[in-house]
Amino acid sequence: MTFSAESIALSLDKGRRIRNDHYTACCPAHDDRNPSLSITQASDNVLLYCHSGCSQSEVIDELIRRGLWPEKRKRAKINTLVDREEMQSFCAAHEYNLRKSIPTCMKAQGLYRQYQRVLCTPFTPGEIIEMHLYCLLYRADIRKGKPTAPEDDNKFLAFQRVVYEKGVPYEA
Ligand SMILES: [Zn+2]
Repeated sequence: MTFSAESIALSLDKGRRIRNDHYTACCPAHDDRNPSLSITQASDNVLLYCHSGCSQSEVIDELIRRGLWPEKRKRAKINTLVDREEMQSFCAAHEYNLRKSIPTCMKAQGLYRQYQRVLCTPFTPGEIIEMHLYCLLYRADIRKGKPTAPEDDNKFLAFQRVVYEKGVPYEA
C-alpha cells in the first residue's frame, strides 16, 4: 500500500478530502465521532494533527498498529540527534586533550566552540517527539523478535536517555 495522506484518511472512519492536500478523518487514538484528525500531505511527508489533543506519537502508534503507517522511515531529524552524540564525543575528546595539555589545532578549537553552542541548546519539542517515536518503533521491533543493528541499539540508548529526562520511561 502506498503511504500517503490520502491512503491514511480513506482507511479511517469518515475520512475525506477537504481541499488539495488536506484530509480529515476520525482520530484513531481516541474515541472520535466527529472527525478531529487533520491529515496533510507535505511533499513526501504526512503531517498529523488531532484537534482533540492527542499527541502526534499517540496517533502514529495507532496508525502503525493498524498497518497504516510505515514502521521505519528515514528521518532527517534523527540524523541531527545522532550528530549531537558525535559532537558530544568530539567535545569530550577535546576536553581530554586540554586537561592533558595535548596541543590542539585552531580548527579543532573552532569546532569545539561551535559544538558547545549547539549542545547547550535544548532539544526542541519536535526533536523529542522524533526520539520518542524512534524508541517506540525500536521497542516494537524487539517485542516482535526482529534483529536490530548495533547502530539502532546505540540510537535507542541515546534517545531513551533524553526522552526519559523528559518524563517518558523506557525499558532498555
Ligand atoms: Zn485524537
